[in-house]
Amino acid sequence: MSYQALYRVWRPQRFDDVIGQDVITTTLKNAIVTNQLSHAYLFAGPRGTGKTSAAKILAKAINCPNQKDGEPCNECEICESITNGTLNDVIEIDAASNNGVEEIRDVRDKAKYAPTQATYKVYIIDEVHMLSTGAFNALLKTLEEPPAHVIFILATTEPQKIPATIISRVQRFDFKRITANDILGRMEFILNDKEIDYDDKALKVIAKAAEGGMRDALSILDQVLSFGFDKVTYENALQVTGSVTKSLLSKYLTNVVNHDVKDALSDVRQMLESGKDAARFVEDLIKYCQDILLYQQSPEMVEESELGVINEEFKKLTSIVDAQRVYRMIVDLNDIQNQMRYTMHPDVYLDVLTVKLSTDNQQAANPAQPQPAVQTASASNVDNQLVQQLKNQVASLQKQVEELTKNGVASNNGGNSISEPARRPAAKKPSGSSSNARVNLTKIYPVLDNATRQDLTNIQNIWDELLSGLDVTKRALMNVSKPVAASHDGVVVSFEYPFLFQKASTDEELQDALGNGLDRILSYVPDFVFIPAEQWPEIRKGYIVAQKNSGKEVREESENSSVENSDQNDDNNNEKQDNEPKIVKQATQLFGEDIIDVKDD
Ligand SMILES: [Zn+2]
Repeated sequence: MSYQALYRVWRPQRFDDVIGQDVITTTLKNAIVTNQLSHAYLFAGPRGTGKTSAAKILAKAINCPNQKDGEPCNECEICESITNGTLNDVIEIDAASNNGVEEIRDVRDKAKYAPTQATYKVYIIDEVHMLSTGAFNALLKTLEEPPAHVIFILATTEPQKIPATIISRVQRFDFKRITANDILGRMEFILNDKEIDYDDKALKVIAKAAEGGMRDALSILDQVLSFGFDKVTYENALQVTGSVTKSLLSKYLTNVVNHDVKDALSDVRQMLESGKDAARFVEDLIKYCQDILLYQQSPEMVEESELGVINEEFKKLTSIVDAQRVYRMIVDLNDIQNQMRYTMHPDVYLDVLTVKLSTDNQQAANPAQPQPAVQTASASNVDNQLVQQLKNQVASLQKQVEELTKNGVASNNGGNSISEPARRPAAKKPSGSSSNARVNLTKIYPVLDNATRQDLTNIQNIWDELLSGLDVTKRALMNVSKPVAASHDGVVVSFEYPFLFQKASTDEELQDALGNGLDRILSYVPDFVFIPAEQWPEIRKGYIVAQKNSGKEVREESENSSVENSDQNDDNNNEKQDNEPKIVKQATQLFGEDIIDVKDD
C-alpha cells in the first residue's frame, strides 16, 4: 500500500474533529440542527486552518440522511461519496485555476437545476479571491437570487481581496491560526493512535515551526518520521525544522550580554559544526530577542503564545538585559540578515555579528533610540586580537557587499558610493521577501495622492477603539504605532521600532484583524500600509519632491556626506574609498539609499 500523507489520512471528517475552531464548528452545527442555513458562506483564514475540511463536513452534514446533532454519519452512501469527491451535487472549484467568467457563468447556469442525489447542491469555491472581476460579477448575480436548493461555500486566505458586494451577501467565518497547544494535542493523538514513540520536546518544536497551520504541522511530522525511521526524536525534529535548541540560543545571548566574546564565538562554532544553518540561527535569535522584549513587558503574553521558550535561562536573561540593548541587538540582527543574502559564506557574518553584539559599541544604527546608561564592557573578556581580526573582516565584507549592490542594482556606471545622489528611500526594494518587509512606495504614494486631513482625523479618532478590539499580542504590537496619513482608501501607519514594523508587515492575521475592526467601526475598510516611523520624514519628502518633479528623475544633492562621526574607530584597511563613516553605512543598509534631513513639508 502506498504511503498516504498524514494530513490526508487525518483530515477531519466531523466538526468535532476540526481543531481550534470551536466557535465556528459549534455555530455551524447549531445552524444545521435548527435548520437555519445561509445560502452562502465565506470561510476566511490562513492556510491549513481547516477551511476546506469544514466546507466538506458542512456539505455532508446538510445532505446526510443520518445527520445527528449537526454531524454527518460518514457511513452512508452520500457521506462516502462526498468524502471521495464523487458526488455530482457537491462541486469543488479551485478558483486559482478557474478564474474565468465562463467557469462561473457555467456554475450559474447549472446551479438552476435541482440536485440529483443530495438534498442540497453545494459549490465549494476555494481561493475565491483569485476570481477575476468579471467572474465575481457573475457570481454576485447568482448570490443575489440564489436557487433554494443551492449552497455556496467560498474559502479564501485573502478575504480583503473579495469585493464588498460579495462579502455583504455571505455569512462570514474567520478561521484562526491554530494554537501551538492545539497542534501539539492533535499530533499526540495521531501518534498515540499509530503507536509511534515520540519525544514531547520534539512535538513542541514541530508545533511551533508550523506557525498555526495544522497541515504544515502534519507535513513536518511526516518528514520527521521518514527522517527518523518512524521515531520522533528531538534531534530529528530540530534537523527537519532547522531550529536551534533554545538552550543554545540563551547560552549564546547570555555570553553576548556579558561581553564574553570568546565564549559566544565558540557557541557559534558549536552551532555550525552541528550542521545548523546560519541564516536560520539569525532568524531564531531575532525571534528570541522579541520574546525577551515581550516577556519583559508582559510575561503571560509569552507564556500564552510560546511553547518551550520559557526556561530558567530565559528568565535569567530577561532579568539581566535591558530593553534598549535588546532593541539594538534586533537592529543589528536585521542588518546582518539582509547582508547575509548576498554572501556564499554566511558563517563569517556570524562571527562578525557576534563580535558586534558582544562589544555593543553604543553608536547603534538607530538614531531614534535614546541612549541608555552605558554598560561598560569588561575588557578583560575581550580578546583584542581576535576582535581586530574580525573587524577587518567586517570592513572587507561590507565593501564586497557594497560592490555587489552597486554593480547589481545601480544603473550609473562608476560613481563613488558616497556621492551617489539620494533617491527615493528604499525604492529599489519594493516589498521584498516575507521575512524582510520593505517600505512599499507603490502602496504609499496612492494614499498620499488622495490623503486628506479629515480622513486622518477620522482614523485617529477611532484608533484607540480599534486597538482595544485586538487581542493582547496584537495590541502590544500596535501600541507603538500611529496613523500618519490617510485617504478614504488607505491608511499609512508608522511604527516606532523597525523590527516591529517588520513584524506587523508580515503578520497577515494582524492585518485582517485591523480590517475587520475598521469594517465594524467605520463600515469601510481602507488598506493599511506600514512604515517604520523614522522613515516617514524621508518618505514624505521624497513624495513631495517626486510631485514637484512630476515624473522627471528626482535628483538631489547628497546630504549624506555631511554626516560625520568623529568617535568612530573604524580600524580597517587603508582603502581611500572606505572613509565613509560606519554609521552612514549601517544607516544606508538599514534605511535604504538616502538619509535626508527634512526641513519642512
Ligand atoms: Zn451520512
